[in-house]
Amino acid sequence: MKNGKGQILVVDDNPQNLRVLGSMLKENGYRVALAENGIEAVKYAADKHPDLILLDIMMPEMDGIETCKHLKADDRTAEIPVIFITALTDTEDKLRAFNAGGVDYITKPFVLEEVMARVDVNIKRKEVEEKLKQANIELKRADKLKTQFLSLVSHELRTPVTPITAQLQMMLAGYFGEVTEKQKKSIEMVLRNTARLDRLIGDILDISKLESGAMKFVMAKADLNETVEHAVEIMESNARKKNITITLKEDKIPEIVFDKDRIAQVVINLVNNAIKFTDPGGTIDICLLNNTSYAIVKVTDNGIGIKKEDLERIFVPFEQVDSSMTRKYDGSGLGLSICKGIVASHGGEIWVESEAGKGSTFQFTLPYRRGIAEKNVKVNLFEKQVGNKLLEV
Ligand code: ADP
Repeated sequence: MKNGKGQILVVDDNPQNLRVLGSMLKENGYRVALAENGIEAVKYAADKHPDLILLDIMMPEMDGIETCKHLKADDRTAEIPVIFITALTDTEDKLRAFNAGGVDYITKPFVLEEVMARVDVNIKRKEVEEKLKQANIELKRADKLKTQFLSLVSHELRTPVTPITAQLQMMLAGYFGEVTEKQKKSIEMVLRNTARLDRLIGDILDISKLESGAMKFVMAKADLNETVEHAVEIMESNARKKNITITLKEDKIPEIVFDKDRIAQVVINLVNNAIKFTDPGGTIDICLLNNTSYAIVKVTDNGIGIKKEDLERIFVPFEQVDSSMTRKYDGSGLGLSICKGIVASHGGEIWVESEAGKGSTFQFTLPYRRGIAEKNVKVNLFEKQVGNKLLEV
C-alpha cells in the first residue's frame, strides 16, 4: 500500500452514489478517486494503479462487466481487485460478475457497514497476496543463488584435489625417494581422505547440476538387465566383507533408452546403503521387474530400517537419520537425493518402505516410453517426499 489504507477508485454513472461512497470511504481513512464511466476508469487504473475498484454494473456505453474484462486483460491492472456494485439480485448476473474477474459484489441500496467490511477484507487480502508474491520472488532468488554457490564452490574445491592426489601417488611410488612403512601408511591415509573429499565434492556438484537442470545425460538404447547385473557385481566384494548375501532376481526388460552410468550409479548407491545399514550376516534381495509400461528396480535389506518419522526427509540433501557428530555410519546424506534427481530426470519415481529394526525396501521405476531425460529438467531436491508419488497420481 503506497500510503495510509490505500486508494479506492469508485466507478458509477450516478453522481449521488459517487458522493455517498466517496465520502464514506474517505471517513474510513481511504484515499478516493471517482470515475463516471468505464472508459475513464480503465484509463485511470492503468495510470494510477488504485488498490481496489468499486465498479457499478449498470452503466451506459461500457457496462461494469465489460469494464472489468478490460481491466483483467491488461497486465497493468489485472491484479487490482474489483468489487461490483449491483442492483441486480439475479444469480446469473452475479455469476457473470465473478466470471469477468470480480472478487466480490455489493448490492444496492448500500448498507454502509457492509460496504466498508467488504472493502477492508479485500484490501487486506491484496496486501497479504502482495507480501506473499514478494516473499516468493525473494525465495526464488535465494534458491538460485544457493545453486550457483554450490556449483561455484564445488568447482573451485575440486581443482586442487587432482594435483594433490597425483603428488601423493608419486610419493607412494617412491618417486621422491624411498618411503618407510610408517610414511606409506600415512600417505595412504591422506589418499583415502582425499578420495573421500573428491567424492563429496562430486556429490555436491551433482546436486547443483540436478537442481539447475544442467546435468548432462548420455541417453542411449541399452540393456537394463546388464546395467543392474554389472552394478551388483561391483558391490559384491563389499557385501562379502560384511558376510552379507546378495541375491538378484530379474525379469527380462525390453531394450529402453536411459543413461547407463547414471542408472548404475543409482543402483550402486542403493545397494551400498543396504550393505552399510545391514548387520553382518544379513541379506539383500534385488529384484528387477517388468511392469508392462515401466521397469522396477527393488533393493530390499533386513538391516536397521528407518523410523516412520524419518522416512520423508532422507531424500532431501544432507539429511541423515543420525546426523550427530558421533554417528556410527559415515556418509554425507547426499546419495539418495542424487538418486532421486537422476530417476526423476528419467521420468521415474523413487520411494522407500521401511520399518525400524526390520529392514528397508527402496525401489525406483524407469518408464519405457518416457525414456528420454528431458533437457534442462530442474528437480526440486530440497522438497520433502512422502511415499510413492507415482501410485498417488
Ligand atoms: P548417506 O551418505 O548418509 O548414506 P544417503 O542420502 O544415501 O546418505 O542416505 C540418507 C540416510 O538415509 C542415511 O544416512 C540413512 O540414515 C538412511 N538410509 C538410507 N538407506 C538406508 C537403508 N538401506 N537402511 C536404513 N537407513 C537407510
